[in-house]
Amino acid sequence: MSSTSPTPDSGTRPAVEVAGVTKAYGDRRAVDGVSLTIRRGEFFGLLGPNGAGKSTLVEIMEGLRKADSGSVRVFGDSPWPRNTALLPRMGVQTQTSAFFVRLTVQEHLRTVASLFGADHAAVDATLGAVGLGGQRDVRVDNLSGGQRQRLAIASALVHGPELIFLDEPTAALDTEGRRDLWEVLRGLKAEGRTIVYTTHHLDEAEALCDRVGILVAGRLIVTDEPQRLIHTFGSGSRLLVPLGRIDEQRARELPGVDGVAVQGGHLVLETRETGRVLAALDALAGLDGVQTRTPSLEDVYLELTARRTPLDTGTDAETHADATTTQEQQA
Ligand code: ADP
Repeated sequence: MSSTSPTPDSGTRPAVEVAGVTKAYGDRRAVDGVSLTIRRGEFFGLLGPNGAGKSTLVEIMEGLRKADSGSVRVFGDSPWPRNTALLPRMGVQTQTSAFFVRLTVQEHLRTVASLFGADHAAVDATLGAVGLGGQRDVRVDNLSGGQRQRLAIASALVHGPELIFLDEPTAALDTEGRRDLWEVLRGLKAEGRTIVYTTHHLDEAEALCDRVGILVAGRLIVTDEPQRLIHTFGSGSRLLVPLGRIDEQRARELPGVDGVAVQGGHLVLETRETGRVLAALDALAGLDGVQTRTPSLEDVYLELTARRTPLDTGTDAETHADATTTQEQQA
């Protein structure tokens, strides 16, 4: 990657400001009144089911598509029509990144780098960072799917952009490759870069993102920090008690237990009062082998996308604003 660091004095406007943006394809509203601000240095995850409008929204931010209405600002400037001043400041990886397939990996990345004036040292550093150092002389058309994905990511990073858009960057990576990329991304964030990230891996979003926004049917139904979403919407913990330890009816009667089910060799106790139920279990039968499962971002995501309506969490000023906006649009 280029050694260029984001300059702290390069302005005070947020990295991305989206206000009341809509985009329709024919009579289908792909993006439906979205408002969102992404701070500089923020790692923002855009989540949502297939067809929710994530790619369309991100492409509008990138200046690749024109919104039908609403306003978009990137570092205070409009990315549309093509804004050449913004191009070097942005790095874009898409699901359909183009490659020079007859070139080697290194030649490809040098070509991309030259478009932005990045040097050969940046190329080699970026190849190393994404784990392609050993493939630099391999022709692009001989790369595996995962290696191509890494090259697409390298192509988005090589010029040291301040704002990086990554569209499901770990989709074709194996577990080790995913974890390696997480480290690269954490490094980019530590350098102060802004990252806008779409993923279907909820564990990834929970581990990496400062904030996530959940898009459903073109509407941003909520934005917040993953832990706050879990705290606000997570429906308690589950305690897994080995079968035979305690009678099912007895478990149901324990104060603080909301529900009991038998699952895979365990009695599963749902509760919002974990400490109280654990204490009661301890007194009754001991805690040996008892496991506690707290809700994850994935649990909350599944719950929220099933509701498919805007929410007002009251926990986050922007969430409130976003939710209010979409509710107003509905009215
Ligand atoms: P996501 O990235 O969340 O899967 P998209 O932004 O790709 O969602 O798509 C949102 C909706 O817009 C979907 O219904 C999709 O079929 C439609 N759509 C996306 N791109 C186009 C296009 N170029 N022409 C017509 N419809 C499109």
